[in-house]
Amino acid sequence: MDLRYKDITYCKGVGEKRAQLLKKELKIESALDLLHIYPYKYVDRSRFYQIRDIEDEETFVQIIGVITDYQTVGSGKSQRLTATFVDKLGDSIELVWFKGVQYLKLEIGVPYLLFGKPSSFNHSYNIVHPELERLRSQEQLSTRKGLEPHYNTSEKMKNGSLNSKAMRTIIQGLMPDLREGVPDTLPQDLREKYHLCSLTDALINIHFPPDSASMQRARERLKFEELFYIQLQILKQAKGHTMQSEGFVMPMVGSHFHDFYSHHLPFPLTGAQKRVIKEIHEDMKSGHQMNRLLQGDVGSGKTLVALMCALLAADNHYQTCIMAPTEILANQHMETVSLMLQGTQMRVALLTGSTTAKQRRDLLPALQNGEIDILIGTHALIEDNVQFANLGLVIVDEQHRFGVAQRAKLWAKNIRPPHVLVMTATPIPRTLAMTVYGDLSVSVIDELPPGRKPIQTLHYSNQRREQVDNFIDQQIQKGRQVYVVYPLIEQQKDAQGRPKPVEKPLADLENGYRRICQRFPQYRVSMVHGKMKAKEKDEHMQRFAQGETQILVATTVIEVGVNVPNASVMIVENAERFGLAQLHQLRGRVGRGAEQSYCVLLTDIQLTKDTRKRMDIMVATNDGFRIAEADLQLRGPGDMEGTLQSGLPFELKIASLSTDGQILELARKAAKDILDEDLELTKAEHQIFVNQLKKLKQQAVNWSEIS
Ligand code: ADP
Ligand code: MG
Repeated sequence: MDLRYKDITYCKGVGEKRAQLLKKELKIESALDLLHIYPYKYVDRSRFYQIRDIEDEETFVQIIGVITDYQTVGSGKSQRLTATFVDKLGDSIELVWFKGVQYLKLEIGVPYLLFGKPSSFNHSYNIVHPELERLRSQEQLSTRKGLEPHYNTSEKMKNGSLNSKAMRTIIQGLMPDLREGVPDTLPQDLREKYHLCSLTDALINIHFPPDSASMQRARERLKFEELFYIQLQILKQAKGHTMQSEGFVMPMVGSHFHDFYSHHLPFPLTGAQKRVIKEIHEDMKSGHQMNRLLQGDVGSGKTLVALMCALLAADNHYQTCIMAPTEILANQHMETVSLMLQGTQMRVALLTGSTTAKQRRDLLPALQNGEIDILIGTHALIEDNVQFANLGLVIVDEQHRFGVAQRAKLWAKNIRPPHVLVMTATPIPRTLAMTVYGDLSVSVIDELPPGRKPIQTLHYSNQRREQVDNFIDQQIQKGRQVYVVYPLIEQQKDAQGRPKPVEKPLADLENGYRRICQRFPQYRVSMVHGKMKAKEKDEHMQRFAQGETQILVATTVIEVGVNVPNASVMIVENAERFGLAQLHQLRGRVGRGAEQSYCVLLTDIQLTKDTRKRMDIMVATNDGFRIAEADLQLRGPGDMEGTLQSGLPFELKIASLSTDGQILELARKAAKDILDEDLELTKAEHQIFVNQLKKLKQQAVNWSEIS
């Protein structure tokens, strides 16, 4: 029986109802699809525990013993059954059932094999809902070899009695058919070259490995395959792309650039800035369309690099647009850039949602006539009526806020796609960048401007608020300014408008603002949040930027890009509510001037393990790359989607981007070699790839393209 075409409905132990569940919950159709649902862990069933050896809540244990007594408490739904289980050393552990109590038939004094996960309770362990099996002979034990697979199942599946054990039984039922072999999805020569086992062996051993070595081999093969096809797809697109897209050629380094460099540069460029400007210019004159990611930690001076690239474009008679994710940021770029360009020939304009109809009537024709060299703005730049005379360079700041579709609209604004420079302060770990962007080139500014003192990060529980307040006071007296950031705008209200009772009420912005005004009557306070009108937001921001107010109370709208060098203290309220990448961004708002800067993370005193780790990492390092790696490890690549938004265009079933970097490199090389030889995959021996890519595409994988 070919497992590819065997509908799961007809697999042993499945049937109509369960098949519906599997199709819906796991999006699988065939028996082979089911075999590609991998266990998330294995339990060693050859090991037997003594009760006294239990020391960990997380691992499953297997114990032989007897039940000495049991009792049922309560009735109906709240019925509960507890039993005492004693092993041969005489130690005992409590067993508890909350569900299915009426079906349990326990016998006292007969040997049982118990299997379950201990949890600690009142300073001792108990086991909730253990599996119990009557032990009738020693033989029963000796057949229990190898690693037992455990599967993740959804709540709906569990309710349909499709738990991990049921999955195991169904998959076990497929083994005889599987042993007859399934067609491989990687050709033999490739498998030999990279020492990979066959798909058949991999599938057998991923589910029922006789030992951990065979399980490892199976995992390696499946990881390789997963990453290989992703790379093949991305590289195929990327290569096809660079071959087709000719780019505007911009070889000139002319008067705009030279004049600025000699007479207007406010400070010497750092070595890293010089290097990346060179790299970018190489692309701009190459004849191919540039697709470059410019990574640089917060404060590394990306804006200046962007500006100098725009000067190069202008020297070659092309226009540039700089797109920012928020209006605050667009305004700020406008200001910085106009200030730096004062006294030069460059013409700069701003276009955002707040640009009035009248302003547009002047601006749009000027843009179309080529009277504007640099257009700075927000999403408003994408609109169809924004027409350029000769757009040659698109600079996207903080790219993770933009979707692929939005970017694509910009490409259509000239006869050829313009060069694209995507600037991000969210350092994407190399493995992730490689996977998501394939052949996108990456430039890194790995050096901060000189004279910066590393930001000191402190973690306080909010019970020590008074101390933090005193600290704020001291810093302001020294002439500094302070940000205070809150995770929420206002307390959640119920339908009647009353504040919703929450377990731990979050310090909210409005209360915080009031409290701060009361605590610091001698200082002036600005407030900025996402629900304010753009104009109002901007006024508050301006007052803070110009030093008229000393404290800025804000939500994360200031997370990205805001630059007020005199502000040297960042207080983050409820820091436990923020992810690492976000905290790092927030912290990056300070440390921009010559003064020692501080970031204070305020949290609840009770923290989960993960939150504590996050705070510890923040305190330990300022290095954005280390933080991004840690973030990836703590949250897994799936969650990165939230931060990157454009994110991972695929789901990884088995490979991990944070730990499988080596396999990824190999898979990438394998994919590259094949495409170098046969970009269109037309050779007969490559049809296996074409078919598999087709199949993966059908599974609705939305491959990202940066352009
Ligand atoms: P980011 O990379 O986070 O966008 P910015 O471009 O906002 O950083 O720059 C951060 C600060 O560093 C700004 O105040 C900017 O004027 C300053 N800066 C940029 N380049 C240099 C340099 N080469 N030397 C000194 N200061 C610099
Ligand atoms: Mg910036």
